[in-house]
Amino acid sequence: MARASGTRVLIIGAVAAGSKAAATARRRDPTAHITVIGDEPDIAYSACGLPYHLGDPDAIARERLVARTPERFRSDGIDLRVRHQVDRLDLEAGEARVIDLEGGRSSRAPFDRLLIATGAQAIRPAFPASADAPPTITLRSMTDLERVAPVVASARRIVVVGSGYVGLEAAESFRRRGAEVTIVEKLPRILPAFGDEAASLVAAELAANGVTLLVGRGVGALESGGVVLDDDRGLPADAVLVAVGVRPNVALAAEAGVALGTTGAVAVDDRMETDHPGVFAAGDCAETVQRQTGRPVWIPLGDTANRMGRVAGENRVGGDRRFPGVIGTTVFGCFSLNVARTGLTLADAEAAGFAPVSCRVSAPSRARYMPGSRPLELGLVVDRRDGRVLGGVAVGADGADKAIDTIATAIWGGLRIDDLADIDLAYAPPVSPVFAPVQVAAEVARGTIRSVNDGAPVVLPG
Ligand SMILES: Cc1cc2nc3c(=O)[nH]c(=O)nc-3n(C[C@H](O)[C@H](O)[C@H](O)COP(=O)(O)OP(=O)(O)OC[C@H]3O[C@@H](n4cnc5c(N)ncnc54)[C@H](O)[C@@H]3O)c2cc1C
Repeated sequence: MARASGTRVLIIGAVAAGSKAAATARRRDPTAHITVIGDEPDIAYSACGLPYHLGDPDAIARERLVARTPERFRSDGIDLRVRHQVDRLDLEAGEARVIDLEGGRSSRAPFDRLLIATGAQAIRPAFPASADAPPTITLRSMTDLERVAPVVASARRIVVVGSGYVGLEAAESFRRRGAEVTIVEKLPRILPAFGDEAASLVAAELAANGVTLLVGRGVGALESGGVVLDDDRGLPADAVLVAVGVRPNVALAAEAGVALGTTGAVAVDDRMETDHPGVFAAGDCAETVQRQTGRPVWIPLGDTANRMGRVAGENRVGGDRRFPGVIGTTVFGCFSLNVARTGLTLADAEAAGFAPVSCRVSAPSRARYMPGSRPLELGLVVDRRDGRVLGGVAVGADGADKAIDTIATAIWGGLRIDDLADIDLAYAPPVSPVFAPVQVAAEVARGTIRSVNDGAPVVLPG
């Protein structure tokens, strides 16, 4: 509902959370004076689409990653300043200092309500590097893309440092462009956020697609012609993509006195308001609550940033919308596989005081006789005391996203394993087997719970 407020709203950051919040605030309050400051030339773009654009720039053009242009924002009456940066905040005075990154001029932006949507930045370890070392790139933003795209177009051999989902998606896109790709991971196995089984399925998929994987090895230095690993082995490379994680962009908020949470990101309540009334934070710079444990978490994801931005956007112009927290639902693609997870792992659930058991099944994604049917590896974590669904992981060439979204919905709704086993899901041979993979897993989990509770040996499906 529109309110005649004239409220001065300032938003810092204009990608997912910032732009979503601006659009929501505009819809809700047509009279608010909304100013958005973004330090990049582009706004409202999909960073998630960057690897896909790099892999096939003709099919997924750069412009298609941009959901809203600056012109569109301005035509909605939003004072948008791109290539401007806020370098200081005075929360008492309600004022920000804004630097024009093109002209260098500084100005002041007064506000009644502030949204900090400064996102996250790629971690860039300071590897010792000679002057003639191959270029080191990161893939975090549209600005990074300007540097990455020409490098990728010409590099024949690319080393990717780090094996989280960004490293893996980038590795796939480089491979699709015909480069020789080696992934270097310091930990003993890839995909730190997923379990052993998912990691070994993905490792096999990488190998099948010609990606070399070196685990348990770190980068020692960058030298002419390539990378020197910490075991002194040399690895030829024309470019090095560093994808070892991100950290929240919180310096501006912290310097202004806004409290950070235990995760290191900005602490907010469920209205996305910080410890300073009228000052909100949303997106990758903010932490939230893991719904199942009630504990603070920092899980920087695009869908979360958009949902947080929507809540903050409404509340800054007088709304009272709540952000309900997250359960860590994620999916990414690796060549033909989709890899997805939600909720708690067995270890997380134990640490949080649940009494978890887990089970694993391999089930066909559709009726076995249908051409598109593929095996889906599915794991479930369930509380053995009350049968509550706690977590899931799915890996396969077909149906992993559907299975994980079903499990996520079950967790969100507090469903028990009996519900999941008997839930009325859609069936037709081209889309599902008679018993959907989640129902096969639920049935096995019921048996596992019975066996564990009776003290009998756990019988896994043959
Ligand atoms: C390669 C890649 C793939 C991804 N894939 C997925 C995916 O498949 N699914 C998913 O859910 N998520 C994915 N993500 C994560 C998702 O892109 C982020 O969670 C999302 O972009 C966060 O949005 P944000 O607005 O909070 O922050 P950001 O995107 O970090 O934007 C913050 C903006 O604020 C600017 N800024 C910072 N400080 C200032 C300042 N002082 N003044 C002005 N401007 C400032 C920054 O430069 C940036 O432009 C992916 C990310 C990457 C990099």
